[in-house]
Amino acid sequence: MRLLPLGCGGFIPAHGRQTMCFLVVDGGEALLLDAGSGLARLLEPRVAAALPPGDRLDIVLTHYHLDHVVGLSYLPGLARDRRVRIFAPAAPLTESGPEALERLIAPPLFPVRFEAWPMPVEIVPYAGPELVVGRFELRVRAQRHPGGSAGLRLDDRLAYLTDTVVDPASAEFVAGVDTLLHEVWLTAEEAGTEDAGRTGHSAAPGVADLARRAEVGRLMPVHHHPRRTTADLEALALDLAARAGRDVLLPAEGDSLAVGRRR
Ligand SMILES: [Zn+2]
Ligand SMILES: [Zn+2]
Repeated sequence: MRLLPLGCGGFIPAHGRQTMCFLVVDGGEALLLDAGSGLARLLEPRVAAALPPGDRLDIVLTHYHLDHVVGLSYLPGLARDRRVRIFAPAAPLTESGPEALERLIAPPLFPVRFEAWPMPVEIVPYAGPELVVGRFELRVRAQRHPGGSAGLRLDDRLAYLTDTVVDPASAEFVAGVDTLLHEVWLTAEEAGTEDAGRTGHSAAPGVADLARRAEVGRLMPVHHHPRRTTADLEALALDLAARAGRDVLLPAEGDSLAVGRRR
């Protein structure tokens, strides 16, 4: 399985980073996790070449904040030759359901509604605890974040926990997974002055402790704070590795990374 990070930033595109979007490719099928501004990278030749040929594009959203959904509005310019399926979280995972998307993709915020797009769009609500998207079998867990969000695990290879307060109970959910993508919004230093619980996000020490307890193969910090430079992130990754005692890899947008025990 390959993972192509297309957007690793949270909130604001900054320092060359786009907002949250990850392309997962396995066995000739593809899945996008979230649809932030990083979805625009589907226009880049390397990314386009990694997308398996086919007539379908599947997207799983974790929640409805703009840094995870704004890229949906790019789809008529990026995927007009594919049938698009958007797997959209619903209660009890999130307070809002897919109707949030009907508000975003509608005048005056967007000129045409989904029904009038040049390709068919199907919106599929999901509530867990399982979700099957083509060949991908996901497990789903509710997370604590303003409005709620969904944590996702794809068999033993990949888990994606973002836009959540770090939750020690996630250790069981991600136990033994090869690659854990987990948000790290605050550094240890910032966590001393800012209440992570109030932000609805995670601080580095808690994420490192979770990765250690869950014995994940590798931790990839994502959903970076827009104020962080690449040098800041490299320092953060070293801190995480020291505390977690696990491999920590800072994913670069446009990379194609092997994921799974035999990587
Ligand atoms: Zn976010
Ligand atoms: Zn959010």
